Amino acid sequence: MAAVTSHDEQTQPSSPIQSTGGLDPKTVAVKAGRPPNEPDQPLNPPLVLASTYVAGGELEYGRYGNPTWQALETAVGELEGGQALSFASGMAAVSTLLGLVAPGEKVVAARHCYLGTLHQLAGLEQRGAITAVLVDIDDTEQVVAALDDDVALLWIESPTNPALEVADIPALCSAAHDHGIKVVVDNTFATPMLQRPLSMGADIVLHSATKYISGHTDVLVGIIVTNDDEVLAAVDERRRSLGALPGAFDAWLALRGLRTMPLRVERAQQNARELARRLSEHQAVERVRYPGFGGIVSIDVRGGAAGADKVTSSTSIWVNTTSLGGVESTFERRRRWSSESPTIPEGLIRLSVGVEDVDDLWADLSTALDGVSAQQP
Ligand SMILES: *Cc1c(COP(=O)(O)O)cnc(C)c1O
Repeated sequence: MAAVTSHDEQTQPSSPIQSTGGLDPKTVAVKAGRPPNEPDQPLNPPLVLASTYVAGGELEYGRYGNPTWQALETAVGELEGGQALSFASGMAAVSTLLGLVAPGEKVVAARHCYLGTLHQLAGLEQRGAITAVLVDIDDTEQVVAALDDDVALLWIESPTNPALEVADIPALCSAAHDHGIKVVVDNTFATPMLQRPLSMGADIVLHSATKYISGHTDVLVGIIVTNDDEVLAAVDERRRSLGALPGAFDAWLALRGLRTMPLRVERAQQNARELARRLSEHQAVERVRYPGFGGIVSIDVRGGAAGADKVTSSTSIWVNTTSLGGVESTFERRRRWSSESPTIPEGLIRLSVGVEDVDDLWADLSTALDGVSAQQP
């Protein structure tokens, strides 16, 4: 990766927000990133709307820092076990990281990683900036064989979207480190409640906090977390120069959502497990993909695109929409996007299981699936 460019501006200023070292993640999610526990302090971090600050301190200008971002960054950083920086969106975080890859270097990435990430990799490759090598991330041997000393970055997403393949993160990190390769894990699907990649050997964790971290489908925010000081400084410098920063209100909403993430993820996972079990017994479902954890389930519906479209247009609780990780149950047929990988079946529906009552969810979904079974004996 590119060397850290020296910069006359200071790095991220120190934060007045409290730390909660050593506590359970469920407690950290509630406690981290709050003002000091002192008389007249608000319980919640204030929403600071400022494009600039009085000179002489650490913040200086609205593109370099904001106390509301810092509160969110403290909380996510403590949950992931590193230092966090927040961004305008998950994709702003992705482009910030990919922008650190030096010309001519290689990136090895999951074939089924987020479409926006694949799009950026393809664009960089077209311009001759990098070489992208796509691999099946659940095939450890294949990934390890693609690693060599010309690779700068291994881009893991696990589980993948929407095939839900799971990578052997510790094995891949150790193989990558043998070649001096930095490892990024896009941890959006698993969340830090279920998977902490830094503790598994990864160098960098990335989130679309748009999804489970904020959890209410009302904001776009991205996060990068790392313990590598060089990467942190380079990412901070690039965020400042690109201006890829979150709005203060967006960061505030993401932190407000994060407080209930442990409860939301626990319920979504419980619902997803039960629905995966029931779906595997439904005759309109050819295949259920569920990695055993998390709130995302993908199903291959009988009758291909037509069968799947019939299901996604026949429900009243489940909403046909893209994105995931909100309190509400949503789903979509992924191949309705022309950019979706042709290795994803036409009839695959990705379900983002919400926190509603599981029997209500099943009644709505199974009725829609019954319509397909009736058509496709
Ligand atoms: C949504 C998503 C992104 C991109 O995040 P945005 O906030 O939409 O920019 C990246 N990775 C994964 C796994 C995602 O689901």
